[in-house]
Amino acid sequence: MNDIRLYLFQSGSQLCKVHDIKMNQGCGQDMEIPVPWFLLMHPKGNVVIDGGLAAEGLADPRGYWGDAIDAYRPRMRPEQGCVAQLATLGLSPRDIRYVALSHLHCDHSGAVGRFPDAVHLVQRREYEYAFAPDWFAAGAYARKDFDRAGLRWQFLDGEAGQPFDLYGDGALQAVFTPGHTLGHQSFLVTLRNSGTMILAGDAVYTLDHWNETALPGLLASAVDAVRSVQKLRALAERSGATLVPGHDPEAWRRFRLAPGYYD
Ligand SMILES: [Zn+2]
Repeated sequence: MNDIRLYLFQSGSQLCKVHDIKMNQGCGQDMEIPVPWFLLMHPKGNVVIDGGLAAEGLADPRGYWGDAIDAYRPRMRPEQGCVAQLATLGLSPRDIRYVALSHLHCDHSGAVGRFPDAVHLVQRREYEYAFAPDWFAAGAYARKDFDRAGLRWQFLDGEAGQPFDLYGDGALQAVFTPGHTLGHQSFLVTLRNSGTMILAGDAVYTLDHWNETALPGLLASAVDAVRSVQKLRALAERSGATLVPGHDPEAWRRFRLAPGYYD
């Protein structure tokens, strides 16, 4: 039986500048970054990981995301929303048991509240910060995504140290990786044939961060961001894991996207 599968999706892309992704680099050059999200199919319940940008925002991008679209302009079609893409695999919103969130920036929070039976997994620190962000980080949060009545949340406490193991079988673990935001987490997915895949989220925008040749252009703490990369690198070395960076255009092209999958 080999019924655990990881699907990689993209909810369009964002147009920004190189320096938004790689601090002090690019001299104002344009950059287009993918907006990845994931589905883990598991016998004990399916998990949407992140969920990309909210398709609902496309009708009125400035009304939905605010002036943040001037720095990160969404390039996305409605059918690239997470609910619509899951439908192409034959999944309805009620087939999703969990929505696991690396953090609550708007290019990761588009799944929140779209799956009526889902429990939303997020670090408690991230959730609290998203309601009261500092001025430089405020534009990245779209409060209408996560400030909704009737959502079911499960708050994780990664600062305590141990990874959180969702099903107790190692298939999906959450590792606390602050720095990009105060409460960021990354995910380790362990599969029978493909081994361990690190869904770094924005702890590793691009391989430049992984290889320590650039800091990210947006961060809450440079020290924490650097140490979170080191933490993930140690985990990768131990498990021989494959790294999936959060927004690396070249690296992303090398992965198999849905309807293909990793098992
Ligand atoms: Zn982010």
